[in-house]
Amino acid sequence: MTIAAFLRRIELATRPIHPESRTALARRWAELPDHVKTPGQLLGKAAVGCEGTHGVFPKCNLTCSPCYHSADANKVRVDGSHTVRAVRDQMEYLRSVRGPRAHAQLIGGEVSLLPAQDHAAALLAMRANGREPMSMTHGDFDYQYLLDVALDGDGKPRFGKVSFAAHFDSLMRGRRGAVRPHSEAELNPFRARFADMFVDLKRDYGISSYIAHNMTVTPSNVDQVEEVTRAVLEMPYDMLSFQPAAYIGDDRRWTEDFGDVTIDAVWSRIEAGAGQRLPWQGTQFGDVRCNRTSVGLRVGAAFTPLLDPEDPADLAARDRVLEHFGGMIFGGAPKTVVTVKIVRAVLGHLEDVPVLIRFAARMLKRAGGPRRVVAAAYGRRLGFKTFVVHNFMVAAEVQPAWTLMEQGVVSDDPKIRETHERLGSCMYAMSHPETGRLVPACVQHSALDQAENAGLRKMLPIRPVSSATLTSPASV
Ligand code: SF4
Repeated sequence: MTIAAFLRRIELATRPIHPESRTALARRWAELPDHVKTPGQLLGKAAVGCEGTHGVFPKCNLTCSPCYHSADANKVRVDGSHTVRAVRDQMEYLRSVRGPRAHAQLIGGEVSLLPAQDHAAALLAMRANGREPMSMTHGDFDYQYLLDVALDGDGKPRFGKVSFAAHFDSLMRGRRGAVRPHSEAELNPFRARFADMFVDLKRDYGISSYIAHNMTVTPSNVDQVEEVTRAVLEMPYDMLSFQPAAYIGDDRRWTEDFGDVTIDAVWSRIEAGAGQRLPWQGTQFGDVRCNRTSVGLRVGAAFTPLLDPEDPADLAARDRVLEHFGGMIFGGAPKTVVTVKIVRAVLGHLEDVPVLIRFAARMLKRAGGPRRVVAAAYGRRLGFKTFVVHNFMVAAEVQPAWTLMEQGVVSDDPKIRETHERLGSCMYAMSHPETGRLVPACVQHSALDQAENAGLRKMLPIRPVSSATLTSPASV
């Protein structure tokens, strides 16, 4: 490599915003429907959105009502080489159209049914394509499995940091030690045990983690969201995420009325559990009917949101950050590269420095002042927490809306129009490299999974099946 080429490489690596990120963000913004192009919109300004795998390991060994997987999912053999190959293909396509960095979920059936080496290989394939992977699990595995994923054959850390999201709720059946839980509280020891594995991983091997707690909400457990929030906030989870149940996936598991649980009903119960308001209106990923998020600092038992949406100074600071620094990515880069990026970004916008200092001072004041923050840090009671509600749509609405979208038809029906608007601003996409498409996860689970899993069942049968029982694979 010539000196000039080497210097160009250094310049690009430390450039605050990678040019491919700028291009991907601009494309994302241009494609968003007008109704979500609000000042607080993060898609197209700071992020391209979340990504998830599909059809890579459909099987699961627990049963849930509801279950978002199609009826055929458990008839597909877990096959590590298929998983790694399909994950790589999907991630390479995402890398090509959505730029060098994004968060992606390793999701499908139950990730811990993968042999640990294949699980690790899938994570490495995601990272090789600039994805920050999060493994989605029911959390019913032992510390040894986590070690086998996180450590290499010599017992050395394979990763500096791992990220897992564990699904715990009383709608799940078959967990070891809680086969048929009667209440959410019954699962608290299992929630704590899962989170503690990552504390041990840090202590024993120095591997950091980001862990999320997921809970599906139906009328039967919505009134327990408050106590789950209260309990999980005392555990070392970084994110508390709740999903009102939707009629998608396996209709044999639709045993109760899911329709009564709204995003507002869930959020108000999370606030009750947190003991305070959790303002989310300052920023938005996609459509407000799909999801809401509040990020902040937990100091002792009190949560301080990063942004006060009722403070014009905070909103002005948000606008500057999004305009001048949106799209900066730090994940996966060495500390020196991150430092140079930040220095270059700040030097490019020195006029923003006083604004950011005042923003940090307001945040510190809201959190109780520097002494309180330092005391909380000293007592290990300081950390960021994120609250999320993601509100999937029902298959009966997504299927017809998607068919019309594919035909380019704009419907007059208000419900279909709403579905179009939400799908058009989707923040959670799945990749189809075989057709050069990205599809919203709602579409994947409502319209595509069934045929895809039927095809996988043929390719990876648990036991031989006759071709007469099979339908053809999905074509999207
Ligand atoms: S997956 Fe569905 S509910 Fe989620 S953001 Fe996309 S369209 Fe909205």
